[in-house]
Amino acid sequence: MIDLKDVSKMYDNGSAALDHVSLHINKGEFVFVVGASGAGKSTLIKLLSHEELPSSGSVVVNDTEVNKLSKSRVPYLRRKMGIVFQDFRLLPNKTAEENVAFAMEVIETPRRVIKERVRTVLDLVGLAGKADALPQNLSGGEQQRVAIARAIVNRPLLLIADEPTGNLDPETSRDIMDTFKKINHMGTTVLMVTHDKQMVDMMNKRVIEIVDGKVVRDEQKGAYGDEN
Ligand code: ADP
Ligand code: ADP
Repeated sequence: MIDLKDVSKMYDNGSAALDHVSLHINKGEFVFVVGASGAGKSTLIKLLSHEELPSSGSVVVNDTEVNKLSKSRVPYLRRKMGIVFQDFRLLPNKTAEENVAFAMEVIETPRRVIKERVRTVLDLVGLAGKADALPQNLSGGEQQRVAIARAIVNRPLLLIADEPTGNLDPETSRDIMDTFKKINHMGTTVLMVTHDKQMVDMMNKRVIEIVDGKVVRDEQKGAYGDEN
């Protein structure tokens, strides 16, 4: 699913955001990426979605070598992944349903399919009753559910989350994490960057720790660790 071989990323100012990183993530895994601010976590995510290109090494996502992709193929790569952010990034003047539908409209899905699939995913994330609400009238947890629904509506193989519970209280965070777990159980690979120690320790999933651009720990059934 994801294969990084000896990947380094140097930004123009010369700082090494990733330093000879190799890692392999199988289809269906649930993986946490932890590390202090500035460690290189966001850079790792940006390399997967072709937002940034590696300075050296190869990045393969779903059998596609991302760094060799032509510009016209990038949208097809991104269709295979859904991304959820800490700050939700919903369209403020669209309802929950419209926010989710929008992700399908942009790839020209037939309207009948959109209607059916949007209903299914809103139900899956527990938001069937809020389909007509605008983001401003939803709680943080509910907004994040809309964002998750939007990220999975096109049935991606990979769901990436960048600190998805960073703005949520512990109880809401647990609900959101249960939703990710459910989606993972349905077969979607989940890659999550987080600072949420309690959650990582509770979930008992694979943990990859990055320090100064290097993978310093990669454990199945890992814990958050002390140093972040
Ligand atoms: P986060 O890790 O919370 O996702 P960012 O990726 O936006 O945050 O930024 C992480 C670090 O990278 C910050 O220290 C920020 O100053 C630095 N950074 C982000 N974008 C740039 C840029 N274009 N030029 C220089 N530094 C940047
Ligand atoms: P994290 O997500 O773990 O906070 P980042 O991947 O954002 O870390 O950043 C890793 C390093 O790369 C940091 O030193 C940061 O300042 C630097 N960096 C990130 N984005 C940019 C950028 N666009 N231009 C220059 N430096 C950047």
